[in-house]
Amino acid sequence: MKATPRLSLLAVASLAVAGTLTVDTAAPAQAAACNGYVGLTFDDGPSSSTPALLNALTQNGLRATMFNQGQYAAAYPARVRAQVSAGMWVGNHSYTHPHLTQQSQATVDSEISRTQQAIAAAGGGTPKLFRPPYGETNSTVKAVAAKYGLTEIIWNVDSQDWNGASTDAIVAAAGRLTNGQVILMHDWSANSLAAIPRIAQGLAARGLCAGMISPQTGRAVAPTAAGAHTRSASDRLG
Ligand SMILES: [Zn+2]
Repeated sequence: MKATPRLSLLAVASLAVAGTLTVDTAAPAQAAACNGYVGLTFDDGPSSSTPALLNALTQNGLRATMFNQGQYAAAYPARVRAQVSAGMWVGNHSYTHPHLTQQSQATVDSEISRTQQAIAAAGGGTPKLFRPPYGETNSTVKAVAAKYGLTEIIWNVDSQDWNGASTDAIVAAAGRLTNGQVILMHDWSANSLAAIPRIAQGLAARGLCAGMISPQTGRAVAPTAAGAHTRSASDRLG
């Protein structure tokens, strides 16, 4: 009785999940109350897969962080803007996706700085989050990321979509997320795309919502106004 409105929303969400076998007719995930947040991340875009991914996310009430490669942000700036318009957050995933731990500091610097520029030039704002390719990092990578004001984000749960994981396996991986955690997926993965409605249902059933990744803590948190949409020069202080 202390939180009747919230419990009512949860009950509705639970009924919606339990009462349907066809994912396309499920209630949107945002109808659920948020007892915690998880960070959905999609690496390696933007690409020709991005529009369908954005449609699936928005239709299921989910927001995600897109760790873009700089070379693709430069090639497909409109897709970066589409990510932002769809309510996604945009992070830095290097320019050409090398094994950064095997590169010189100058090369690491170039990979990170050119990506910052490409994403900003495309209209994606200046990223505050950085995911090194393959999750590989060392003191040089960390120092260069810090130089550009970037927080390094690896992941808590690996969907294994890059390794041929089935849609069922990806849904199950998302089901292991707990409050504050981050899951690795990829922009190009058809199985991850197919998993999105069920990921949304699973999160809603557990009272979890898709949040932003805090640059301060590296954990998934409630979206804030400063974190939404573009981070332009005007809100650099926020
Ligand atoms: Zn990658």
